[in-house]
Amino acid sequence: MAQKQKVVVLDGGTGMTLQEMGHVFPQGDLLWSARIVKSHPGDLIKLHKQFYSSGADIVVTATYQASLDGYRKVFNLDEEAARDCLKLGVTLAQTARDEIEKDTGRRLYVAASIGAYGAVQTDWSEYNGRYVDTMSKQELSDWHLPRMKAILETNPDLLAFETIPAVKEAEAVLDNLQHFPDVKAWLTFQCKDGFTTGHGESIVDAVRLVARYKNVVATGINCVHPKFVTSLLQQIATAKLDIPIIVKPNAGFFEHDESTSGVWKLSDQVDEWLRLGATWLGGCCHIYSSDIAEMRRALEQRADVSLLATADRLV
Ligand SMILES: [Zn+2]
Repeated sequence: MAQKQKVVVLDGGTGMTLQEMGHVFPQGDLLWSARIVKSHPGDLIKLHKQFYSSGADIVVTATYQASLDGYRKVFNLDEEAARDCLKLGVTLAQTARDEIEKDTGRRLYVAASIGAYGAVQTDWSEYNGRYVDTMSKQELSDWHLPRMKAILETNPDLLAFETIPAVKEAEAVLDNLQHFPDVKAWLTFQCKDGFTTGHGESIVDAVRLVARYKNVVATGINCVHPKFVTSLLQQIATAKLDIPIIVKPNAGFFEHDESTSGVWKLSDQVDEWLRLGATWLGGCCHIYSSDIAEMRRALEQRADVSLLATADRLV
């Protein structure tokens, strides 16, 4: 029998799930889902536990749009208190992880989310990366470093650089990891079509570059429209990387596309994603814990898949 594919189950979208729970984010909100870390921490523990219970092996923290500046301005905090908020975003997920591990005996992980520079600008520029045209790599590294340092004080299992639209920003954040040789990370790109990043570079070149960094344990795509995923995974496969490929699409919410909305289901994609070589599977915006549970069930039924076991050491 052919060797089984080792598959890791990731979670779904945090911000949209919070909205489903009744939270309202004002247009252009500086912190977006990261606001809940401070305002309703208990709800985040509940949300993370929901994803773990639905079968996610790794949960991503609500720190995607968190920034020291954002916490200072929105909650009128000093530097120290803003840092505490940033760190709380990770420790809430760790609390959820520890509780579910204790109840189930499973080995679970927390990935601390680090969103793109564009996410914190609240102008959707994480979907086109246009700021990299006027910022140097060093400026991007310098902007990211204080937030990364604060988050790393909490010892997350790994970092998740998410929705990165440009190769320059990927290099900027991964260069920062040279200060932290033992830290593990994944990095996923936002893509505007089936071939290129949000900023327009070849996805093949982009993932190749990322995979060269020693800290990186997996790479791939997130918050991409489902209709681009097949082509993107076909492209990425040509890079023949020796690290796992991540796929975490949104549910197609950026366009009111009749061909996907209401019909597209995460669990239906598993077969094709595995065939194309992606093995760390989850979702982004508008993918909920029920979708993750359904995907986990679909994976459990496959004889050619082995899911993460307690004895496995992921990172
Ligand atoms: Zn998303």
